[in-house]
Amino acid sequence: MAPQQNYHMSPEEFRHWGYQVIDWITNYWENVEKLPVMSQVEPGGIKGKLQETAPQKGESFEAILKDLNEIILPGLTHWQSPNFFAFFPTGTSAPSVLGELISAGLGVQGMLWATSPACTELETHVLDWLVDMLELPKQFLSSGTGGGVIQDSASSASLVALLAAREQAKADISKLVVYISTQTHSSIEKGVKIAGLRLENLRLIEVDSTYAMRTDLLQQCIEADINAGLTPCYLAATIGTTSSHAIDPIPELGEITRKYNIWLHIDAAMSGTAAICPEFRWIHQGLELADSYCFNPHKWMMTNFDCTCFYVRDRAKLTQALSIVPDYLKNQATESGKVIDYRDWQIPLGRRFRSLKLWFVIRYYGIEGLQNYVRKHIALAQEFAEWVKSHSSFELVVNPPLNLVCFRHKGSARVNEVILNSLNSSGQLYLTSTQLNQKLTLRMSIGQATTERIHVEQAWKLICQAAESVEITL
Ligand SMILES: *Cc1c(COP(=O)(O)O)cnc(C)c1O
Repeated sequence: MAPQQNYHMSPEEFRHWGYQVIDWITNYWENVEKLPVMSQVEPGGIKGKLQETAPQKGESFEAILKDLNEIILPGLTHWQSPNFFAFFPTGTSAPSVLGELISAGLGVQGMLWATSPACTELETHVLDWLVDMLELPKQFLSSGTGGGVIQDSASSASLVALLAAREQAKADISKLVVYISTQTHSSIEKGVKIAGLRLENLRLIEVDSTYAMRTDLLQQCIEADINAGLTPCYLAATIGTTSSHAIDPIPELGEITRKYNIWLHIDAAMSGTAAICPEFRWIHQGLELADSYCFNPHKWMMTNFDCTCFYVRDRAKLTQALSIVPDYLKNQATESGKVIDYRDWQIPLGRRFRSLKLWFVIRYYGIEGLQNYVRKHIALAQEFAEWVKSHSSFELVVNPPLNLVCFRHKGSARVNEVILNSLNSSGQLYLTSTQLNQKLTLRMSIGQATTERIHVEQAWKLICQAAESVEITL
Protein backbone atom coordinates (compact mmCIF):
# COMPACT_ATOMS: atom_id res chain seq x y z
CA MET A 1 0.00 0.00 0.00
CA ALA A 2 1.21 3.49 -0.78
CA PRO A 3 2.19 5.52 2.30
CA GLN A 4 -0.61 7.78 3.38
CA GLN A 5 -0.30 11.42 2.57
CA ASN A 6 0.71 13.53 5.57
CA TYR A 7 -2.55 14.57 7.22
CA HIS A 8 -1.06 17.02 9.73
CA MET A 9 -1.31 20.79 9.58
CA SER A 10 2.12 21.72 8.21
CA PRO A 11 4.36 24.16 10.11
CA GLU A 12 3.71 26.78 7.39
CA GLU A 13 -0.04 26.29 7.67
CA PHE A 14 0.13 26.46 11.44
CA ARG A 15 2.04 29.73 11.23
CA HIS A 16 -0.56 31.11 8.83
CA TRP A 17 -3.63 30.02 10.77
CA GLY A 18 -1.99 30.78 14.09
CA TYR A 19 -1.58 34.41 13.08
CA GLN A 20 -5.17 34.40 11.82
CA VAL A 21 -6.41 33.10 15.16
CA ILE A 22 -4.48 35.74 17.09
CA ASP A 23 -6.10 38.33 14.79
CA TRP A 24 -9.46 36.73 15.43
CA ILE A 25 -9.04 37.02 19.20
CA THR A 26 -7.80 40.59 18.87
CA ASN A 27 -10.84 41.55 16.78
CA TYR A 28 -13.08 39.84 19.29
CA TRP A 29 -11.59 41.86 22.12
CA GLU A 30 -11.88 45.07 20.09
CA ASN A 31 -15.56 44.45 19.35
CA VAL A 32 -16.87 42.57 22.37
CA GLU A 33 -18.31 45.74 23.90
CA LYS A 34 -20.75 46.05 20.99
CA LEU A 35 -22.13 42.50 21.28
CA PRO A 36 -25.25 41.65 23.36
CA VAL A 37 -23.76 40.66 26.70
CA MET A 38 -26.04 37.73 27.51
CA SER A 39 -26.58 35.25 24.70
CA GLN A 40 -30.15 35.44 23.49
CA VAL A 41 -30.36 31.94 21.91
CA GLU A 42 -33.03 29.41 22.83
CA PRO A 43 -32.07 25.97 24.20
CA GLY A 44 -30.94 23.76 21.30
CA GLY A 45 -30.41 26.80 19.07
CA ILE A 46 -26.72 26.11 18.57
CA LYS A 47 -26.81 22.32 18.43
CA GLY A 48 -29.39 22.50 15.65
CA LYS A 49 -26.95 24.40 13.43
CA LEU A 50 -23.99 22.05 13.87
CA GLN A 51 -23.15 19.33 11.35
CA GLU A 52 -25.28 16.27 12.13
CA THR A 53 -22.29 13.91 12.30
CA ALA A 54 -18.51 14.25 12.46
CA PRO A 55 -16.87 14.75 9.04
CA GLN A 56 -15.46 11.63 7.40
CA LYS A 57 -12.68 13.61 5.70
CA GLY A 58 -10.78 16.46 7.27
CA GLU A 59 -11.97 19.96 6.40
CA SER A 60 -10.14 23.19 5.69
CA PHE A 61 -9.29 25.37 8.64
CA GLU A 62 -11.11 28.16 6.86
CA ALA A 63 -14.38 26.20 7.02
CA ILE A 64 -13.88 25.66 10.73
CA LEU A 65 -13.32 29.37 11.39
CA LYS A 66 -16.37 30.20 9.32
CA ASP A 67 -18.57 28.10 11.60
CA LEU A 68 -16.89 29.62 14.62
CA ASN A 69 -18.09 33.02 13.43
CA GLU A 70 -21.51 31.98 12.21
CA ILE A 71 -22.61 29.34 14.71
CA ILE A 72 -20.57 29.61 17.88
CA LEU A 73 -20.14 33.36 18.30
CA PRO A 74 -23.91 34.13 18.43
CA GLY A 75 -24.28 31.48 21.12
CA LEU A 76 -21.84 33.10 23.53
CA THR A 77 -22.43 35.13 26.62
CA HIS A 78 -19.66 37.67 26.56
CA TRP A 79 -17.88 37.35 29.87
CA GLN A 80 -15.27 39.82 28.73
CA SER A 81 -17.73 42.58 27.87
CA PRO A 82 -17.06 45.68 29.99
CA ASN A 83 -20.83 45.55 30.63
CA PHE A 84 -20.71 42.11 32.21
CA PHE A 85 -21.67 42.55 35.88
CA ALA A 86 -23.12 39.08 36.51
CA PHE A 87 -21.85 36.31 38.84
CA PHE A 88 -18.15 37.19 39.23
CA PRO A 89 -15.56 38.47 36.78
CA THR A 90 -13.74 36.21 34.37
CA GLY A 91 -10.02 36.66 34.72
CA THR A 92 -8.39 37.08 31.34
CA SER A 93 -5.70 39.21 29.86
CA ALA A 94 -3.48 39.09 26.81
CA PRO A 95 -0.39 37.84 28.70
CA SER A 96 -2.49 35.10 30.28
CA VAL A 97 -3.88 33.94 26.95
CA LEU A 98 -0.38 33.85 25.50
CA GLY A 99 0.83 31.81 28.46
CA GLU A 100 -2.08 29.41 27.93
CA LEU A 101 -1.24 29.10 24.26
CA ILE A 102 2.35 28.21 25.02
CA SER A 103 1.19 25.71 27.61
CA ALA A 104 -0.95 24.07 24.91
CA GLY A 105 1.95 24.26 22.48
CA LEU A 106 4.22 22.46 24.91
CA GLY A 107 1.68 19.74 25.71
CA VAL A 108 3.45 19.05 28.99
CA GLN A 109 1.90 16.73 31.59
CA GLY A 110 3.08 17.84 35.01
CA MET A 111 1.89 14.93 37.13
CA LEU A 112 5.36 14.19 38.52
CA TRP A 113 8.36 16.42 39.03
CA ALA A 114 10.20 14.05 36.68
CA THR A 115 7.68 14.49 33.86
CA SER A 116 8.76 18.14 33.55
CA PRO A 117 10.75 19.68 36.41
CA ALA A 118 10.06 23.25 35.24
CA CYS A 119 6.31 22.68 35.39
CA THR A 120 6.49 21.75 39.07
CA GLU A 121 9.20 24.17 40.18
CA LEU A 122 7.67 27.22 38.47
CA GLU A 123 4.33 26.43 40.10
CA THR A 124 5.84 26.09 43.57
CA HIS A 125 7.81 29.28 43.09
CA VAL A 126 4.96 31.42 41.75
CA LEU A 127 2.73 30.23 44.59
CA ASP A 128 5.47 31.26 47.04
CA TRP A 129 5.59 34.67 45.34
CA LEU A 130 1.87 35.04 45.92
CA VAL A 131 2.30 34.37 49.65
CA ASP A 132 4.52 37.47 49.73
CA MET A 133 2.39 39.46 47.30
CA LEU A 134 -0.83 38.99 49.33
CA GLU A 135 1.07 38.85 52.63
CA LEU A 136 -0.42 35.45 53.42
CA PRO A 137 0.81 33.63 56.55
CA LYS A 138 4.31 32.16 56.19
CA GLN A 139 2.97 28.67 57.01
CA PHE A 140 1.87 28.44 53.36
CA LEU A 141 5.40 28.81 51.98
CA SER A 142 6.98 25.72 50.45
CA SER A 143 10.17 26.33 52.44
CA GLY A 144 8.37 25.17 55.61
CA THR A 145 5.92 22.32 56.08
CA GLY A 146 3.26 23.82 53.84
CA GLY A 147 3.02 24.91 50.25
CA GLY A 148 0.80 25.89 47.37
CA VAL A 149 -0.57 24.17 44.28
CA ILE A 150 -2.79 25.24 41.40
CA GLN A 151 -6.15 23.47 41.27
CA ASP A 152 -8.70 23.73 38.49
CA SER A 153 -11.30 25.38 40.73
CA ALA A 154 -12.15 26.46 44.25
CA SER A 155 -14.54 23.51 44.30
CA SER A 156 -11.65 21.08 43.86
CA ALA A 157 -9.54 22.94 46.43
CA SER A 158 -12.26 22.68 49.06
CA LEU A 159 -12.80 19.01 48.26
CA VAL A 160 -9.11 18.16 48.48
CA ALA A 161 -8.95 19.97 51.83
CA LEU A 162 -11.95 17.95 52.99
CA LEU A 163 -10.23 14.70 51.99
CA ALA A 164 -7.19 15.68 54.06
CA ALA A 165 -9.47 16.58 56.97
CA ARG A 166 -11.28 13.24 56.67
CA GLU A 167 -7.93 11.44 56.83
CA GLN A 168 -6.76 13.53 59.78
CA ALA A 169 -9.92 12.78 61.78
CA LYS A 170 -9.17 9.02 61.77
CA ALA A 171 -12.77 8.27 62.70
CA ASP A 172 -15.76 6.41 61.31
CA ILE A 173 -16.77 8.35 58.19
CA SER A 174 -20.45 8.18 59.09
CA LYS A 175 -19.70 10.16 62.26
CA LEU A 176 -17.73 13.03 60.68
CA VAL A 177 -19.37 16.45 60.83
CA VAL A 178 -18.78 19.38 58.47
CA TYR A 179 -19.65 22.99 59.33
CA ILE A 180 -20.53 25.76 56.90
CA SER A 181 -22.83 28.76 57.07
CA THR A 182 -26.14 29.21 55.29
CA GLN A 183 -24.22 31.49 52.88
CA THR A 184 -21.38 29.10 52.02
CA HIS A 185 -20.89 28.25 48.37
CA SER A 186 -22.73 25.13 47.18
CA SER A 187 -19.43 23.50 46.18
CA ILE A 188 -18.80 22.51 49.81
CA GLU A 189 -22.05 20.57 50.01
CA LYS A 190 -21.12 18.90 46.74
CA GLY A 191 -17.71 18.09 48.21
CA VAL A 192 -19.37 16.45 51.22
CA LYS A 193 -21.34 14.21 48.85
CA ILE A 194 -18.27 13.33 46.80
CA ALA A 195 -16.11 12.64 49.86
CA GLY A 196 -18.68 10.13 51.09
CA LEU A 197 -19.64 11.98 54.25
CA ARG A 198 -23.28 12.01 55.26
CA LEU A 199 -25.35 15.00 54.19
CA GLU A 200 -27.18 14.68 57.53
CA ASN A 201 -23.83 15.55 59.12
CA LEU A 202 -23.48 18.82 57.23
CA ARG A 203 -24.36 21.73 59.54
CA LEU A 204 -25.54 25.02 58.08
CA ILE A 205 -24.85 27.62 60.76
CA GLU A 206 -27.03 30.73 60.75
CA VAL A 207 -25.51 34.11 59.99
CA ASP A 208 -25.62 37.57 61.59
CA SER A 209 -26.90 40.81 60.05
CA THR A 210 -23.79 41.06 57.83
CA TYR A 211 -24.38 37.47 56.59
CA ALA A 212 -21.28 36.23 58.42
CA MET A 213 -21.29 32.95 60.35
CA ARG A 214 -22.47 33.16 63.98
CA THR A 215 -19.72 31.79 66.19
CA ASP A 216 -21.97 31.34 69.23
CA LEU A 217 -24.27 29.05 67.24
CA LEU A 218 -21.29 27.20 65.80
CA GLN A 219 -19.89 26.53 69.25
CA GLN A 220 -23.27 25.23 70.49
CA CYS A 221 -23.63 23.03 67.45
CA ILE A 222 -20.17 21.48 67.90
CA GLU A 223 -20.88 20.75 71.57
CA ALA A 224 -24.18 19.12 70.68
CA ASP A 225 -22.51 16.99 68.02
CA ILE A 226 -19.80 15.81 70.41
CA ASN A 227 -22.42 14.96 73.01
CA ALA A 228 -24.24 12.94 70.37
CA GLY A 229 -21.08 10.89 69.75
CA LEU A 230 -20.16 12.54 66.45
CA THR A 231 -16.71 13.80 65.38
CA PRO A 232 -16.37 17.43 64.22
CA CYS A 233 -14.02 17.30 61.23
CA TYR A 234 -14.01 20.29 58.86
CA LEU A 235 -15.14 23.88 58.80
CA ALA A 236 -15.27 25.86 55.56
CA ALA A 237 -15.26 29.59 56.20
CA THR A 238 -15.64 32.18 53.48
CA ILE A 239 -13.94 35.47 52.79
CA GLY A 240 -16.39 37.06 50.38
CA THR A 241 -19.50 34.90 50.08
CA THR A 242 -21.07 34.54 46.66
CA SER A 243 -24.43 36.06 47.53
CA SER A 244 -23.32 39.12 49.49
CA HIS A 245 -19.53 39.14 49.89
CA ALA A 246 -19.83 38.51 53.61
CA ILE A 247 -16.62 37.82 55.51
CA ASP A 248 -16.79 35.13 58.19
CA PRO A 249 -15.06 35.99 61.49
CA ILE A 250 -11.86 34.01 60.87
CA PRO A 251 -10.03 34.85 64.16
CA GLU A 252 -12.92 33.54 66.28
CA LEU A 253 -13.55 30.57 63.99
CA GLY A 254 -9.85 29.75 64.14
CA GLU A 255 -9.93 29.65 67.92
CA ILE A 256 -12.90 27.28 67.88
CA THR A 257 -11.41 24.96 65.26
CA ARG A 258 -8.12 24.80 67.21
CA LYS A 259 -9.96 23.93 70.40
CA TYR A 260 -11.84 21.03 68.80
CA ASN A 261 -9.15 19.92 66.34
CA ILE A 262 -11.28 20.75 63.30
CA TRP A 263 -9.67 21.41 59.91
CA LEU A 264 -10.20 25.08 59.02
CA HIS A 265 -10.45 25.72 55.29
CA ILE A 266 -10.85 29.27 54.00
CA ASP A 267 -12.53 29.91 50.67
CA ALA A 268 -11.65 33.37 49.33
CA ALA A 269 -12.35 32.49 45.70
CA MET A 270 -13.12 35.96 44.40
CA SER A 271 -12.03 38.25 47.20
CA GLY A 272 -8.59 36.92 48.04
CA THR A 273 -7.08 38.90 45.17
CA ALA A 274 -7.97 42.16 46.96
CA ALA A 275 -5.14 41.47 49.42
CA ILE A 276 -2.64 42.43 46.73
CA CYS A 277 -3.35 45.95 48.09
CA PRO A 278 -2.14 46.60 51.66
CA GLU A 279 -5.30 48.57 52.45
CA PHE A 280 -7.49 45.51 51.80
CA ARG A 281 -5.39 42.94 53.68
CA TRP A 282 -7.72 43.18 56.67
CA ILE A 283 -9.92 40.62 54.86
CA HIS A 284 -7.33 37.96 55.74
CA GLN A 285 -7.25 38.69 59.44
CA GLY A 286 -6.88 35.43 61.35
CA LEU A 287 -5.68 33.45 58.34
CA GLU A 288 -2.68 32.17 60.29
CA LEU A 289 -5.14 29.87 62.09
CA ALA A 290 -6.20 28.16 58.84
CA ASP A 291 -5.15 24.70 57.72
CA SER A 292 -5.87 25.52 54.09
CA TYR A 293 -6.81 28.49 51.95
CA CYS A 294 -7.75 29.13 48.33
CA PHE A 295 -8.41 32.03 45.99
CA ASN A 296 -9.03 32.20 42.25
CA PRO A 297 -6.74 34.25 40.00
CA HIS A 298 -9.19 33.11 37.30
CA LYS A 299 -11.78 35.41 38.80
CA TRP A 300 -10.08 38.67 39.63
CA MET A 301 -6.37 38.42 38.82
CA MET A 302 -6.42 38.60 35.02
CA THR A 303 -5.58 34.90 34.63
CA ASN A 304 -7.87 32.84 32.46
CA PHE A 305 -9.78 29.83 33.75
CA ASP A 306 -8.66 27.48 35.22
CA CYS A 307 -6.42 28.74 37.99
CA THR A 308 -7.18 28.35 41.70
CA CYS A 309 -4.30 28.85 44.13
CA PHE A 310 -4.63 26.42 47.01
CA TYR A 311 -2.39 26.44 50.08
CA VAL A 312 -1.97 24.04 52.98
CA ARG A 313 -0.22 24.46 56.31
CA ASP A 314 1.00 20.85 56.34
CA ARG A 315 1.52 19.29 52.93
CA ALA A 316 2.12 15.86 54.47
CA LYS A 317 -1.53 15.72 55.48
CA LEU A 318 -2.55 16.28 51.89
CA THR A 319 -0.20 13.69 50.43
CA GLN A 320 -1.12 11.15 53.09
CA ALA A 321 -4.72 11.49 51.97
CA LEU A 322 -4.04 11.36 48.23
CA SER A 323 -0.78 9.56 47.48
CA ILE A 324 -0.82 6.22 45.71
CA VAL A 325 2.32 5.00 43.97
CA PRO A 326 1.83 2.34 41.30
CA ASP A 327 4.94 0.73 39.81
CA TYR A 328 4.67 2.60 36.55
CA LEU A 329 5.06 5.97 38.27
CA LYS A 330 8.10 5.04 40.38
CA ASN A 331 11.20 7.09 39.63
CA GLN A 332 14.46 8.14 41.26
CA ALA A 333 13.48 11.76 41.82
CA THR A 334 10.35 10.77 43.75
CA GLU A 335 12.26 8.22 45.78
CA SER A 336 14.93 10.78 46.69
CA GLY A 337 12.23 12.71 48.61
CA LYS A 338 13.69 15.95 47.28
CA VAL A 339 10.91 16.86 44.88
CA ILE A 340 7.21 17.67 44.88
CA ASP A 341 4.95 15.43 42.80
CA TYR A 342 1.81 17.49 42.42
CA ARG A 343 -0.34 14.49 41.45
CA ASP A 344 -0.41 13.81 45.23
CA TRP A 345 -1.95 17.24 45.87
CA GLN A 346 -4.99 16.87 43.63
CA ILE A 347 -7.63 14.38 42.47
CA PRO A 348 -6.60 13.64 38.87
CA LEU A 349 -3.21 12.27 37.95
CA GLY A 350 -2.58 14.44 34.89
CA ARG A 351 -2.12 18.16 35.13
CA ARG A 352 -1.64 21.07 32.78
CA PHE A 353 1.18 23.59 32.88
CA ARG A 354 -1.04 26.22 34.50
CA SER A 355 1.61 28.22 36.30
CA LEU A 356 2.93 29.53 33.00
CA LYS A 357 -0.02 31.87 32.44
CA LEU A 358 0.00 33.05 36.05
CA TRP A 359 3.73 33.74 35.86
CA PHE A 360 3.23 35.69 32.63
CA VAL A 361 0.50 37.79 34.25
CA ILE A 362 2.47 38.58 37.39
CA ARG A 363 5.62 39.44 35.45
CA TYR A 364 3.81 41.51 32.83
CA TYR A 365 1.65 43.60 35.18
CA GLY A 366 3.84 43.56 38.25
CA ILE A 367 2.44 43.98 41.73
CA GLU A 368 1.64 47.61 40.93
CA GLY A 369 -0.39 46.80 37.85
CA LEU A 370 -2.44 44.22 39.77
CA GLN A 371 -2.98 46.69 42.62
CA ASN A 372 -4.25 49.37 40.24
CA TYR A 373 -6.64 46.88 38.72
CA VAL A 374 -8.19 45.90 42.04
CA ARG A 375 -8.30 49.48 43.31
CA LYS A 376 -10.12 50.65 40.21
CA HIS A 377 -12.86 48.04 40.57
CA ILE A 378 -13.34 48.61 44.27
CA ALA A 379 -13.54 52.39 43.81
CA LEU A 380 -16.14 51.95 41.05
CA ALA A 381 -18.21 49.61 43.22
CA GLN A 382 -18.06 52.02 46.15
CA GLU A 383 -19.15 54.88 43.91
CA PHE A 384 -22.00 52.79 42.49
CA ALA A 385 -23.11 52.02 46.06
CA GLU A 386 -23.30 55.76 46.78
CA TRP A 387 -25.57 56.26 43.77
CA VAL A 388 -27.85 53.47 45.01
CA LYS A 389 -27.99 55.01 48.49
CA SER A 390 -28.95 58.43 47.21
CA HIS A 391 -31.73 57.15 44.93
CA SER A 392 -35.22 57.19 46.46
CA SER A 393 -36.42 53.95 44.78
CA PHE A 394 -33.38 51.77 45.56
CA GLU A 395 -31.64 50.52 48.67
CA LEU A 396 -28.38 48.77 49.51
CA VAL A 397 -28.95 45.34 51.03
CA VAL A 398 -25.52 45.31 52.69
CA ASN A 399 -22.62 47.73 52.66
CA PRO A 400 -20.26 46.40 50.01
CA PRO A 401 -16.88 45.52 51.54
CA LEU A 402 -15.16 45.32 48.14
CA ASN A 403 -16.34 45.11 44.52
CA LEU A 404 -19.76 43.43 44.80
CA VAL A 405 -22.78 45.67 45.36
CA CYS A 406 -26.01 44.00 46.54
CA PHE A 407 -29.00 46.27 46.10
CA ARG A 408 -32.68 46.19 45.32
CA HIS A 409 -35.62 48.26 44.22
CA LYS A 410 -37.68 49.01 47.30
CA GLY A 411 -40.73 47.48 45.59
CA SER A 412 -41.69 43.80 45.50
CA ALA A 413 -39.66 40.83 44.31
CA ARG A 414 -41.71 41.01 41.13
CA VAL A 415 -40.55 44.59 40.48
CA ASN A 416 -36.91 43.55 40.89
CA GLU A 417 -37.43 40.54 38.66
CA VAL A 418 -38.94 42.64 35.88
CA ILE A 419 -36.08 45.15 36.13
CA LEU A 420 -33.52 42.34 35.95
CA ASN A 421 -35.14 40.58 33.00
CA SER A 422 -35.63 43.74 31.00
CA LEU A 423 -32.01 44.77 31.50
CA ASN A 424 -30.62 41.35 30.60
CA SER A 425 -32.82 40.88 27.55
CA SER A 426 -31.74 44.30 26.25
CA GLY A 427 -28.25 42.87 25.79
CA GLN A 428 -26.76 46.13 27.05
CA LEU A 429 -25.56 44.69 30.31
CA TYR A 430 -25.77 41.51 32.34
CA LEU A 431 -26.66 41.34 36.04
CA THR A 432 -27.61 38.39 38.22
CA SER A 433 -29.62 38.12 41.41
CA THR A 434 -29.71 36.26 44.69
CA GLN A 435 -31.88 35.96 47.79
CA LEU A 436 -30.80 37.80 50.92
CA ASN A 437 -33.03 37.76 53.96
CA GLN A 438 -35.74 36.19 51.74
CA LYS A 439 -35.64 39.17 49.41
CA LEU A 440 -34.73 39.13 45.76
CA THR A 441 -31.50 41.10 45.53
CA LEU A 442 -29.64 42.39 42.50
CA ARG A 443 -25.87 41.80 42.38
CA MET A 444 -23.59 44.25 40.62
CA SER A 445 -20.19 42.57 40.41
CA ILE A 446 -17.53 44.93 39.11
CA GLY A 447 -14.29 43.28 38.04
CA GLN A 448 -13.93 42.93 34.28
CA ALA A 449 -10.60 43.95 32.83
CA THR A 450 -12.10 46.54 30.50
CA THR A 451 -14.81 47.96 32.75
CA GLU A 452 -14.34 51.70 33.19
CA ARG A 453 -16.34 54.36 35.00
CA ILE A 454 -18.33 55.09 31.85
CA HIS A 455 -19.67 51.50 31.76
CA VAL A 456 -20.73 51.60 35.40
CA GLU A 457 -22.37 55.00 34.85
CA GLN A 458 -24.23 53.71 31.85
CA ALA A 459 -25.33 50.58 33.73
CA TRP A 460 -26.74 52.76 36.52
CA LYS A 461 -28.57 54.91 33.99
CA LEU A 462 -30.13 51.81 32.40
CA ILE A 463 -31.08 50.40 35.81
CA CYS A 464 -32.80 53.67 36.75
CA GLN A 465 -34.62 53.79 33.40
CA ALA A 466 -35.77 50.18 33.79
CA ALA A 467 -37.05 51.02 37.27
CA GLU A 468 -38.97 54.03 36.00
CA SER A 469 -40.73 52.05 33.30
CA VAL A 470 -41.57 49.28 35.77
CA GLU A 471 -42.98 51.81 38.20
CA ILE A 472 -45.26 53.05 35.43
CA THR A 473 -46.41 49.67 34.16
CA LEU A 474 -46.76 47.65 37.36
C1 LIG B 1 -16.85 31.43 42.60
C2 LIG B 1 -16.80 30.84 43.95
C3 LIG B 1 -16.65 29.47 44.14
C4 LIG B 1 -16.60 28.50 43.02
O1 LIG B 1 -15.43 28.64 42.32
P1 LIG B 1 -14.96 27.52 41.27
O2 LIG B 1 -13.52 27.89 41.09
O3 LIG B 1 -15.77 27.72 40.05
O4 LIG B 1 -15.15 26.20 41.89
C5 LIG B 1 -16.55 28.99 45.44
N1 LIG B 1 -16.61 29.82 46.49
C6 LIG B 1 -16.76 31.16 46.35
C7 LIG B 1 -16.81 32.02 47.55
C8 LIG B 1 -16.86 31.71 45.07
O5 LIG B 1 -16.96 33.04 44.92
